[in-house]
This record gives sequence, C-alpha cells and structure tokens, in this order.
Amino acid sequence: MDCIYEGDRVLYINPDECVDCGACKLICHVEAIYYETDLPDEQSAHLADNAAFFTEVLPGRTQAIGSPGGAAGFGPVGVDTPLVAALPLRAPAPPHPKSGQSSGH
Ligand code: SF4
Repeated sequence: MDCIYEGDRVLYINPDECVDCGACKLICHVEAIYYETDLPDEQSAHLADNAAFFTEVLPGRTQAIGSPGGAAGFGPVGVDTPLVAALPLRAPAPPHPKSGQSSGH
C-alpha cells in the first residue's frame, strides 16, 4: 500500500488509507511500527500525533494533508508535527541486516 508519507525526520502512516496488511511492520528493521492495540504506553502520544499529521495544518502549509490517496503521488511533505520536531535527535539506525552492508573490517 502507498500510505506511508514522508515528513522531515520520520514517516507517518495515513490511518484512513492504511488497510492493516502488516507489510510495513514485517520489513521495518528498527521495529518502529506497531498495531494500535500493541502500542507501548510510552509511545501512546504518537498514535494521535500520527493522525494529526494528516488532519492538522502543519507548519509552513496552508491546509491539512487529509487523504490524498497515495504517498508516491503526493511526494515528500518535508515537515513534521510539532511533537516530532521537538524530539531530541537520536543516533542513526544500524544498517539493515539484509542490506549487504558490513559494519567494518
Ligand atoms: S499496514 Fe503498513 S503497509 Fe499495510 S497498509 Fe498499513 S501502512 Fe501500508
């Protein structure tokens, strides 16, 4: 499905376009994707914030994204929700184990 939209620092799943197929959860190498019912309590703010990415007017934009029908055609949004934008930066994720990249020697 084409329902994962690109913000600045993170990706957002459009809850109106997601069909809960689970494909993204299977391939995410940093285990960043949860079914709503499995979301850890400490991550619960991100459920509403992810939805707000589509329903609220983001900084620098004039209208909410809504459900444009596909991330590929819509293109990178290039901005995050205020909650995500305010998060401290983290270390880069390790290379995907199936990417063929080695970590050194
Ligand atoms: S579960 Fe993931 S891959 Fe499947 S439709 Fe939803 S966001 Fe897209």
